[in-house]
Amino acid sequence: MSPRPPRETATVPPHIQTRLEAAGLRRTLATRAVLGLFLAKPTDGLTHAQALGALTARGLEINRVTLYRLLDRLAACGVLQRHTDDQARTWRFSLAPLETDAADEGALPRFECDACHRQFRLADAGAPTRAIAQDLLDTLARLGHQGERVDVSVHGTCSSCVESAA
Ligand SMILES: [Zn+2]
Repeated sequence: MSPRPPRETATVPPHIQTRLEAAGLRRTLATRAVLGLFLAKPTDGLTHAQALGALTARGLEINRVTLYRLLDRLAACGVLQRHTDDQARTWRFSLAPLETDAADEGALPRFECDACHRQFRLADAGAPTRAIAQDLLDTLARLGHQGERVDVSVHGTCSSCVESAA
């Protein structure tokens, strides 16, 4: 563990920091630079190639493969989310919304379109779904299992794909 200059702690929001620590990801220069990219552009997604280009433009020398792995790890720990980009035929990464972190309340239900692989968080479906999640966890507990989280995910076809197929 190296001491962190206080200036840097302000640049990584606490909820992201929590997820990085939970995943055992070290805050290397590359990690901070990549996070900086996405924090500066919170809405638009970036492909691997765009992220690499932006980092290089900022003077960070990062190996292609290292960046690919880093993006995947950030997606795996819930800091970034991944979407398929049909036009570029690649993954597009963006900052995951804050709600993803609702670990103690149970994760929000997700809907994934099987056609375009976009994911939608169903924030409105919160309370009843959490009750179901709690019921499942209680059932597990009675059997002596330790359930930690329930992911509710629904697959189907999103409204825009339904429209374009019609
Ligand atoms: Zn779709």
